[in-house]
Amino acid sequence: MAKAHNADYIKEYNRKTVLRLLRREPMSRAQLARATGLTRAATSLIADELLSEGVLTELSPQKTGRGRSAIPLAVNRDRYCALGVVLDRLACTVGLIDFDGNLLSSKVLESSEASIDAIVEGLEGLLKHADQRSVVGIGISCPGPLSVQQGRILNPPRFDRWHGVPIGSMLTERMGIPAYLEHDACGLALHQLEKGESSDFLLLLVQEGVGSGIVSNGQLLGGHGRFTGELGHTSIRFDGRRCECGNRGCLETYASIPNLLEGSCFASWKELIDDFDSSDAKLLLDREVEYLAAGVINLLNLIPVDTVYLAGDISYGGELLAQRLRGEIAARALGRDFSSVRVLIADPRPEAMLLSTGDIVFSKFLTV
Ligand SMILES: [Zn+2]
Repeated sequence: MAKAHNADYIKEYNRKTVLRLLRREPMSRAQLARATGLTRAATSLIADELLSEGVLTELSPQKTGRGRSAIPLAVNRDRYCALGVVLDRLACTVGLIDFDGNLLSSKVLESSEASIDAIVEGLEGLLKHADQRSVVGIGISCPGPLSVQQGRILNPPRFDRWHGVPIGSMLTERMGIPAYLEHDACGLALHQLEKGESSDFLLLLVQEGVGSGIVSNGQLLGGHGRFTGELGHTSIRFDGRRCECGNRGCLETYASIPNLLEGSCFASWKELIDDFDSSDAKLLLDREVEYLAAGVINLLNLIPVDTVYLAGDISYGGELLAQRLRGEIAARALGRDFSSVRVLIADPRPEAMLLSTGDIVFSKFLTV
């Protein structure tokens, strides 16, 4: 009995591994066998099964070496889809995302009118665009602190109307579809993981606050909710400013956009970048680089990552910041192997956060 159970588990594990890989990029059966470590025969068996179930499709044959051609396999974008909810301080956006990560439809609800009823109505309105696809879950992206395990929003600053709301169970119950709550930065990290550029990275979401998502060995740290990777609340000054979390000198109390710009002539990060030739703007940019470098180096000393992604407001004109941050990290870590750490801009599309809710759902769906 235990043996049969084990065999079922392995089969399911292998099927989901194949789907996870193909969601990132199309691959031939031979490439899949190499990537999974399974035999060609086992890989073909899984692929044929998934093809017959309509979960995969075959693309046109591609020429490989020695005049042979291979047929790439891809996920069928019309088989599954996910609903998404992005809660932030300015608005609430709902969307529908296909299995291949494309946004099918979306709707913005003004923050003042966002309630569970309005969200349910918005999500129900999107279902007509699902066509024949099965909806496998609802991904909810929200600023922390929150309990991923309980699907409950805790007490994010300036987010009072949602404090203590068990939004995960409420949407699961109302929609009859499993709903998963995730930190906005962690959702974006899952989204970035799908790009396949790195399996060991830090994603920094810097806007109203400083959020972080850490991926190590291809896995989101805190994926089971016990660790949240709150780099924004690590201290960069032991006797520094008092933070709402109770600690002193938290990275967020210096590097969040409102804290950085406090007392300056700039009202937003965009204004600062657009006025980059001024000495005031240069000074603030240099300061932001120093704050972020201090935080990033704290992390690099604990967890090896090869890439830092910048997301949120600071990705506007982000190459200016990325270049300086790269230099500062290398300069502060003489003799260490940090000089090869890449600093890149995360997916810059305005819909990236909404697309990340699909990644929250599919990462659950494709985990055994
Ligand atoms: Zn703090």
